[in-house]
Amino acid sequence: MPVVTLPDGSQRRFDRPVTVDEVAGDIGAGLRKAALAARLNGRLVDTSYLIQEDAQLAIVTDRDADGLEIIRHSTAHLLAQAVKELFPEAQVTIGPVIEDGFYYDFAFKRPFTPEDLAAIEAKMAELARADEKVTRRVMPRDEAVSFFKGLGELYKAEIIAAIPNKEEISLYGQGNWVDLCRGPHVPSTGKLKAFKLTKVAGAYWRGDSRNEMLQRIYGTAWPDKKQLEEYLHRLEEAEKRDHRRIGKDLDLFHLQEEAPGAVFWHPKGWTVFQSLIGYMRERQRAAGYEEVNAPELMDASLWAQSGHLEKFGENMYLTKTPDERTYAIKPMNCPGHVQIFKHGLRSYRELPVRFAEFGKVHRYEPSGALHGLMRVRAFTQDDGHAFVTEEQITEEAVALTKLILDIYRDFGFEDVAIKFADRPEKRVGSDAIWDRAEAALIAASDAAGIQYTLNRGEGAFYGPKLEFVLRDAIGRDWQCGTVQVDLNMPERLGAYYIDEHSQKKTPVMLHRAIFGSLERFFAILLEHHAGRLPAWLSPVQAVVMSITDRQTDYVQRVKETLKNQGFRIESDLRNEKVGFKIREHTLMRVPYLLVAGDKEVAANLVAVRTRSGKDLGTMSLETFAERLRIELTSRGRQVMEG
Ligand SMILES: [Zn+2]
Ligand SMILES: [Zn+2]
Repeated sequence: MPVVTLPDGSQRRFDRPVTVDEVAGDIGAGLRKAALAARLNGRLVDTSYLIQEDAQLAIVTDRDADGLEIIRHSTAHLLAQAVKELFPEAQVTIGPVIEDGFYYDFAFKRPFTPEDLAAIEAKMAELARADEKVTRRVMPRDEAVSFFKGLGELYKAEIIAAIPNKEEISLYGQGNWVDLCRGPHVPSTGKLKAFKLTKVAGAYWRGDSRNEMLQRIYGTAWPDKKQLEEYLHRLEEAEKRDHRRIGKDLDLFHLQEEAPGAVFWHPKGWTVFQSLIGYMRERQRAAGYEEVNAPELMDASLWAQSGHLEKFGENMYLTKTPDERTYAIKPMNCPGHVQIFKHGLRSYRELPVRFAEFGKVHRYEPSGALHGLMRVRAFTQDDGHAFVTEEQITEEAVALTKLILDIYRDFGFEDVAIKFADRPEKRVGSDAIWDRAEAALIAASDAAGIQYTLNRGEGAFYGPKLEFVLRDAIGRDWQCGTVQVDLNMPERLGAYYIDEHSQKKTPVMLHRAIFGSLERFFAILLEHHAGRLPAWLSPVQAVVMSITDRQTDYVQRVKETLKNQGFRIESDLRNEKVGFKIREHTLMRVPYLLVAGDKEVAANLVAVRTRSGKDLGTMSLETFAERLRIELTSRGRQVMEG
């Protein structure tokens, strides 16, 4: 009779076969109520599953990722049930779980309207309130095919016919509705407490444009109302903050069809981009990096030697020249830096040697994967490589981690998580070297005082890595920086140094990127700040405007004075009401708005307002310049407003 082992190692014995539900009840009434499903010997099963033999069991509740997935999956079924009750002639097809929610595709004679969605959602709520039991049964394939044909569900019949012979055909029922599914599902519809239908779109059956068009309804589902509300708020915020929209509104950049995934930077966007480069240049120079630049096009043989052609070839652009040579456009900067390291004899005394490059790389991505500046085909990395001895790995990794976190703070990201990816199954190098490399990275995150999470087996084939994940203003996570310890590439490309015993030795290479892709980091910044970039990054830091023509000369003089001091200043001398001008520049998210009327001219002052509408009063130009300078050099830690 079954002995059930729980995740904490404790065991429960039963003198007869028991269901998951009974085991949960045996542990406690609270758990029985919270149980949505279970992992039985690693496999997800329903709470109605009958345990007949000894097994490892973990009850799944809405606190687990599995539980959330089951809720979303079950809500997709609830959606289908509601649609069938309201529109019996609609046919059901498939309804998978996606990020943050689910969808379900229906064959229906017309697109669903927003009113339909509201009605369907109300019906779903009604069915959930009825708390109908969800039951599972298994049916022979032929019987299942004719069962669904009999219901007029021709798509389902087609899906069943395509299921491999060895697989069981299971049906799930709730109320008077039955659907084909592998499961598992929540035990009853009452467990579905917080959901919302979000949109409708057309989708082809089996994703093939030669097939008929189906109606896809999207929705989201959460364990409770509070989490649902938070998600909907995040969605709304994310839409408002979409960098593509802000980029257009602020005239920063554009993309067009002739250059998929490559950015046309407009003057203002490029100004910000250059500020990012200028900032990073300063930081990495202070950290001992030397800036280099390697060719964009190099003979493909070099990429064969580095292993990129084999491992990364599908993402590379190749070109053949009239002299019959094949070149690759660089997808990464590392091999170029190794060439520079190799040029001339290197002594152990020189190490660490640190190279940095704002390297423009090209990587082919399917057009469907492209997304604004977040996912492009041509981008600029703030790439760096430190060549070190094995003894230097830890110290270098610790210094790097501190540098990276400090840099993120300058951009307003305080909430940073570190993921540590250790040795994968397929790897090169001895275990002893891996031990040392991994220990170095663990020491680095410890030194930074940050808890890391383990990404087991997810390191690169040449070494372990740290991944830095930023949390933005609306709670989204972005992986940006990485530090990788490479025990492989320097050797493959024949790099060495002369050690203290006059022997040739292969250096270890630390790859690092802090912004990662500058294009993507730019987008993250825009969304994090909702376009209101801190003054030190703003393309225009202040606009000085006149009230009437009488102040034209004065305004010009103010602009020139500030411009000559290195500030990014514009003037607005248009014959418009000053209120209109202020509104316009506020919409353009210019941090400071300087107004000069007759009074200001007479007293040699400017009236200063902020984009958040705060009136800072009148002040002399010297005072304004002084305070702005403090704000810029402190990178927004000391603001004029505060
Ligand atoms: Zn299902
Ligand atoms: Zn690299």
